[in-house]
Amino acid sequence: MYDQTKCVHHPIVSLEGYVSIGVATYRASTIVFDDVQSYADRHTRGPTGYSYGLYGTPTSRTLEAQLTQLHGGVGTVLLPSGQAAITSIMLSVLRPGDRVLIPSSVYPPVMTHCATYLREFGIDHTIYDPLCGSGIEQLIDSRTKLVWVESPGSTSLEVQDLPAIADASHRAGALVGCDNTWASPLLCKPLTLGADFVVEALTKYAGGHSDVLLGSVTVRDEPNDTKLRDWLRTMGIGVSPDDCTLVLRGLETMGVRLAHVGRVAADIARKLGRSTAVQRVLHPALPEHPGNASFVRDFTGASGLFSVELKQQAVPLLPMALEGLKYFKIGASWGGTHSLLAPITLAATQSTRSRCKSRTYLRISIGLEDPDDIWDDLNTIFYRLERQLQNISLPNKDY
Ligand SMILES: *Cc1c(COP(=O)(O)O)cnc(C)c1O
Repeated sequence: MYDQTKCVHHPIVSLEGYVSIGVATYRASTIVFDDVQSYADRHTRGPTGYSYGLYGTPTSRTLEAQLTQLHGGVGTVLLPSGQAAITSIMLSVLRPGDRVLIPSSVYPPVMTHCATYLREFGIDHTIYDPLCGSGIEQLIDSRTKLVWVESPGSTSLEVQDLPAIADASHRAGALVGCDNTWASPLLCKPLTLGADFVVEALTKYAGGHSDVLLGSVTVRDEPNDTKLRDWLRTMGIGVSPDDCTLVLRGLETMGVRLAHVGRVAADIARKLGRSTAVQRVLHPALPEHPGNASFVRDFTGASGLFSVELKQQAVPLLPMALEGLKYFKIGASWGGTHSLLAPITLAATQSTRSRCKSRTYLRISIGLEDPDDIWDDLNTIFYRLERQLQNISLPNKDY
């Protein structure tokens, strides 16, 4: 063997006795075969076999199997982002002439996808009240093929009655997909509550460190799993094994991270409820929260993301109050080790039972900093807001 060939062909070393704890990162486009016949038969290897890097490596299969176990499904597929996981379900299930129902509290890019891309392809969507429960029945017609659920909803965090919605949808022949990103499979298992598909934006708590984008769909029944897998294959969608490794690592600590941020967030939510700058605190575990009965029934706990709705008079003061934060960062996405704030204004159609034109929320993702430092930062913000509010003559005292 000449040197140039020695460079290309790696020597084979023994793996005997090599048992590491982490999952290895297997990178591949090409998979090689022993002989002509096994290459010719590669398409018969099925969803657990290996034939081409795009269709899975031992690294991606490990993460898929782990999520399948956690959710109690028949299979999981991985997508480059949580958003891609949602749109892949929609595009594999819906055909021109079909209709999808989406809650008004849905992750906003999903609304955009329905209102632009799906509409152009002749697929309709109807926006529904996330708290409608079995009332969803009235919206389901013969064209409705998919009912989308996101519980709790983005920013306003309404908890949906998934069992009632799934029941009504299935009776009418529609499939049900559920975005479970807020809870992760540790706090809620939508497939056991009637969903056919459950999406996780692994970008959030599973990745857990704000440095990876990945999404998953776990499926309850074999035919839907096969259909989704076939669709992804023809679309040529696959994920990087390096990203899978990051999420596999994140999953190992997700339980203790969630338990910790859940405790700290609940404590802080209670304290912020006493601020005179706050209209109301939106945290699913609060008894007065929309959908709290479903939360108590269907979830085993709360994660570290919640929102506060600001009083209208406090809204213009927010930019000033958020200056000079010591620990919090301002940014989208959440579920990482760093505490994050996102000021979010929702139009009246997106916030349920609104008398105002729009409402402004401060979405708070609790990180792993010391709880006293986290509170110190938030306390400063709300103290500033309260002081400023006292100095302002309030033209309208209806809050
Ligand atoms: C962030 C998020 C997504 C999208 O995840 P990406 O990986 O950022 O695309 C979907 N649903 C919910 C509820 C989210 O918070």
